[in-house]
Amino acid sequence: MTDVVLRVRDLHHAYPAQGRRLWGRGRRVPAVEGVSFDLPRGQTLALVGESGCGKSTVARAILRLVEPSAGEVLFAARPGEGPVDVLGLNRAQLRRLRPRLQMVFQDPWSSLNPRLSVRRVLGELLLFHRVVDRGGLEPALIDLLSQVGLDADALDRFPHEFSGGERQRIAIARALAPRPTLLIADEPTSALDVSVQAQVLNLLARLKVERGLSYLFISHDLSIVRHVADRVAVMYLGQIVESGTREDIFERPAHPYTRALLGAIPTVSRAKAGQGVPLRGEVPSSTSPPSGCRFRSRCPLAEERCRLSPPEVSVRPGHRVHCHLSSPVEGDREESTQR
Ligand code: SF4
Repeated sequence: MTDVVLRVRDLHHAYPAQGRRLWGRGRRVPAVEGVSFDLPRGQTLALVGESGCGKSTVARAILRLVEPSAGEVLFAARPGEGPVDVLGLNRAQLRRLRPRLQMVFQDPWSSLNPRLSVRRVLGELLLFHRVVDRGGLEPALIDLLSQVGLDADALDRFPHEFSGGERQRIAIARALAPRPTLLIADEPTSALDVSVQAQVLNLLARLKVERGLSYLFISHDLSIVRHVADRVAVMYLGQIVESGTREDIFERPAHPYTRALLGAIPTVSRAKAGQGVPLRGEVPSSTSPPSGCRFRSRCPLAEERCRLSPPEVSVRPGHRVHCHLSSPVEGDREESTQR
């Protein structure tokens, strides 16, 4: 996997069910079921879907902020290095890996300690990860702030003294401090004003090039994903239903769910969205998903076979669609079973 920084295979995670009386002891609610993807080095892979589809759980499982119940996560920090089996690491090994794999959270306000100045937040990280020694700390701090578009006078201020966009810049600087290879950004702009969102997205795009980063970008907003992603994976009820290049998803969407999501974006024409039919109903509970295709209770194209059996993966080159109505490409069956 020399050109792949992150490979995820058949990832599963279930949360303990709330309400012991209702569900009984030990009952778990599946949040992620069989998610697989590759993140090519230097690219941005966007995981998209409605709230509750499991995309944030995928991110947390990769970082082992929650422990996956099954699957494989392989991470290759640098080209030529053998991949690390993230789920097989013990605590000490995981601590050593963490600097390479960093996360930017949705809400910078809650992810920054209000009692610590920017100097302490960033300085302690730079020293802890031995990026610099004490003698080189001040110029390194100023350089880090300038990379995220902040002046040196921010160093002695506290989180409450900044705007939302500036706080997210500090959160990005904190993620960059240990010199990561992969940044997982979980809805990094959804708590920001629209005018500030573009600035933060432009910042992430510039840092990706300057630092040779790869991004796993989690978002519910396809209009944002369209501007940042090289590849897109669409999730529904804990599973990926369609994945491909940005052009595959935005110009040639094949799954009815993807089409419906695209049809809901005001700037994308219905024709481009592939006759996007509006979504109906609510996302079913993951404790009792529909039989067969999980999307069938909301799908305007559902047929009898959709109730009877889950759709297989059909493949165009690099474009995977889980729908009975999509046509498989001959010769790609074997590949489809691997991702
Ligand atoms: Fe709709 Fe059937 Fe395709 Fe599922 S398999 S998305 S229910 S048409």
